[in-house]
Amino acid sequence: MLETAFAALGTTNHVSIDAFTDRIAAGEALMRARERVLFLHDRLSVFQPESELSLLNASAGCASVPVGNDAFFLLRESKRYSALSGGAFSITTRALSALWEIHARCGTVPSRAEVEHALLLVNDEDVALDDDTQTAELRRFGQSVDLGAIAKGYAADEVRRILIAGGVTGALINLGGTVSVIGEGKHVGIQHPDRMTGIPMGRVLLSDGCAVTSGDYERYYEVDGTRYHHILDPRTGYPSRSDLRSVTLIGESALALDALSTAVFVLGAEQGLPLIQQAGCEAVFVTKNLDVFCTEGLRGNFELL
Ligand code: ADP
Ligand code: MG
Repeated sequence: MLETAFAALGTTNHVSIDAFTDRIAAGEALMRARERVLFLHDRLSVFQPESELSLLNASAGCASVPVGNDAFFLLRESKRYSALSGGAFSITTRALSALWEIHARCGTVPSRAEVEHALLLVNDEDVALDDDTQTAELRRFGQSVDLGAIAKGYAADEVRRILIAGGVTGALINLGGTVSVIGEGKHVGIQHPDRMTGIPMGRVLLSDGCAVTSGDYERYYEVDGTRYHHILDPRTGYPSRSDLRSVTLIGESALALDALSTAVFVLGAEQGLPLIQQAGCEAVFVTKNLDVFCTEGLRGNFELL
C-alpha cells in the first residue's frame, strides 16, 4: 500500500494505492498527483492572496486578467453548470459567502439589506471569458467568484488521470469527501448528517467511479438554534432550504458531480432529479426527516446501515 495525506483546497486529502503494475512508477505518480493538487490550490484558492482567482476578484469591474489553463477551463465549466442549473450553481455567490463568513466569525446573522446588496452581485453571466487572449473579467465592481463547489472535483479527476498514467490499477482518492475509486469495488460511506464524521447512514459500493456529496453538516454555524450552512441559494442569498440534508452523486466525472451536487442540494430532490438524469449519474438523497432514498441504477450497490 502506498499512501499520502496532505492539506490543500481547504480540506484534508488522502490518496492510497493498493494495486499497480510497477511500485516505483506508482510511487512517483502519487508524488506527482500530490504536487498537482498543491499547484491547483495555489492557483485557484480565493484564500491565497496571490492566486489567479484572487487577482481576478481584485480586478472586478476594472480590468481583464490573464488566467492559466486550469482556471480558464474551470471558469468556463462553471458558467456551463450555472446555465444548466438555472443559476442554482453560481460561482459569483462569493460576494454572499464573504458576507456570511464575516457574520459566522461574529456569531451573527446578516441583515436582509446586507444580503440583498450582496445578492445584486450574483450572476455568472457577468464572468466574461475571452478565448483568444485566455483572459477573464468580472463585469461589475465588487463582484467576486470562488471555485469551492467545483475545484475539488476537478482535482480528484486530475489525481485519477495522473495515477492511471503511472500504471496504478487500484486506488482510493479522497479529497475532503470528494471520492474517486480506481479499480475494484470499495465502500464509500454516506455520512450521517447528525453524527460524528465517519459514522455513515449507508454505503455505496463503488468500482471505477466517483462519489461527491454536498450537505448542510459540512460547514455551518448556529444562531438562536437556527443552522446557517455554507451552501447558499443564489436566488435568495440565504443558506439553501430545500428538502435535503445531503445529496451524494455517483458517476464518472468528479468535476461534473461536484458542480451538480451543489446545484441539486440547492434545488432539492424533485427539481434536481432532471439534472441528475440528464447527466447520466446516480444519487443518494438524505432528506430533512433523515429518510434515505437512491436512484434506480444504484439498487444492489447501495446498502442502508
Ligand atoms: P464542499 O466543497 O463543502 O463539499 P460544495 O461542493 O457544495 O461543498 O461547495 C460549497 C462551496 O462552494 C462553499 O463553501 C462556497 O465557497 C461555494 N458555494 C456556496 N454556494 C454555492 C452555490 N450555490 N454555487 C456555487 N458555489 C457555491
Ligand atoms: Mg460541489
